[in-house]
Amino acid sequence: MLMIVYFYDRFVPVCTNPEIDKCLKSVSIPFEKNAPMVYKNLALVEWKKTVPELADWSNQIVFDFCRWLKGKNIITNKEDLCNNAVIEEAQKIEEKISSLNVEGASKKAIINVRVNQGTFRDKLLKRYNKCCLCGVGNQTLLIASHIKPWSESEPKEKLDVDNGFLMCPNHDRIFDKGYITFDDDGKIIISDRLTENDRLFLNVDSRMHIELTESNKKYLKFHRENVFNR
Ligand SMILES: [Zn+2]
Repeated sequence: MLMIVYFYDRFVPVCTNPEIDKCLKSVSIPFEKNAPMVYKNLALVEWKKTVPELADWSNQIVFDFCRWLKGKNIITNKEDLCNNAVIEEAQKIEEKISSLNVEGASKKAIINVRVNQGTFRDKLLKRYNKCCLCGVGNQTLLIASHIKPWSESEPKEKLDVDNGFLMCPNHDRIFDKGYITFDDDGKIIISDRLTENDRLFLNVDSRMHIELTESNKKYLKFHRENVFNR
């Protein structure tokens, strides 16, 4: 218990070996039964940091959460945790917006505002902290930009961090409008509708490149085929 008092952010307050085993089991963390308890405790804390939904929770709350899972006899894994939280949030946004009775451009604008207040943007900020394309770093200007549009996405895709790029207003706008897209290596593809002059003033250059995750690619394929307008 002393460890937790002195290093409150490094350990969860588990005091017995069987108890921490149950915690690890409840969230599907593999562990060696005979490993010292302190290592199991650290494994739980390290795991917590890799789950976006839990990363900001205190260790105490994560421990309470594991006990709650254990009490309900629920065994879950990281993917379930991410997907469930993400789906729930997407549904809440949908419900709020459908209760407003708006359609078309206004609906899209409201969705953009809501999404940019939520965890989708937080997650993108954590991942990139600047425009994916040009490096603008002013956080108040950066926009969570969907690759596959919200309206076309399945519930679990709507707030999937891999379905987004963080972009400056300029690049968000032209990506959203289909003036630019990217190939599977992240190389920019620019629409012929942008003149040399437009490209100059919009800061778009055929040498530009974006870092991709493996899971960005399925969304980008959709963007190339359905949003990009050559
Ligand atoms: Zn930019």
